Amino acid sequence: SKSTTSYAIIQPDFKFEDMGIGGLDSEIGAIFRRAFASRIFPPSLVEKFGIQHVKGILLYGPPGTGKTLMARQIGKMLNACEPKIVNGPEILNKYVGQSEENIRKLFADAEKEYKEKGEDSGLHIIIFDELDAICKQRGSKNDGTGVGDSVVNQLLAKMDGVEQLNNILIIGMTNRLDMIDEALLRPGRLEVHMEIDLPDENGRLQILKIHTSKMSQNGIMGDDVDLKELASLTKNFSGAEINGLVKSASSFAFNRHVQVGTLASVTPDVKDVKVNRDDFFAALD
Ligand code: ATP
Repeated sequence: SKSTTSYAIIQPDFKFEDMGIGGLDSEIGAIFRRAFASRIFPPSLVEKFGIQHVKGILLYGPPGTGKTLMARQIGKMLNACEPKIVNGPEILNKYVGQSEENIRKLFADAEKEYKEKGEDSGLHIIIFDELDAICKQRGSKNDGTGVGDSVVNQLLAKMDGVEQLNNILIIGMTNRLDMIDEALLRPGRLEVHMEIDLPDENGRLQILKIHTSKMSQNGIMGDDVDLKELASLTKNFSGAEINGLVKSASSFAFNRHVQVGTLASVTPDVKDVKVNRDDFFAALD
């Protein structure tokens, strides 16, 4: 086999199969190729291209489709420090002026390390959940306080400032692409955009497998459960809703073994608890 050199940004023991993300294989692959490929090459080579690494990614799409899961797994996959995860509404601190300070603080560790170690600095990941909350479309659809404006400006300033910093990756997430300030989406900022949509039937099957894998391993799953059938019956379910379905089915299974008297207790046959097809159908109902 050909020997390869890799300026490995990937954790050596990381396995894509272990990500616990179903139905998004091509999205994960595409993000990798578009956002991280350059980081695998020697910095001296990349320098010759006169380009900078991708600094920001935007994941958008309906709620519960695995955006947060994916952002966290990207953090785990890359040889990075524990990602900083912040929530848009959280940043919008009610004390005016404090939100800009919150943004400044987010970048401080990465900036400090880069000053000390340069290209040897570790990768820092900053994840913005509900990014739309701080982007009330500057100017036009403003909430009147002007707080959103200055937070976006601060974020833009920070992102442009990291131009020299090769050690930062920002992952933004939103259900509302239309609410994201266009200035944030330009090259050099959140430049790779990836839609994370509702899973198709095959994706739903993968997600069902992920969320029932423990049950299957432990012999808890009833023999009559057909995950393919469930995948076909869960059209328009998000990953989060499929997760909810499995939880609900489990709860029906538990409840078959519950006796409620003065105190709630479990029946003696509790060792035989299984999650059956009926439990999934009750849950679907
Ligand atoms: P929101 O936009 O509401 O924040 P999200 O897209 O970030 O939603 P997650 O928080 O990643 O959604 O998903 C919630 C939970 O649903 C996950 O922790 C996981 O259990 C399950 N889930 C969602 N999508 C998937 C998926 N593709 N594969 C496996 N599990 C999933």
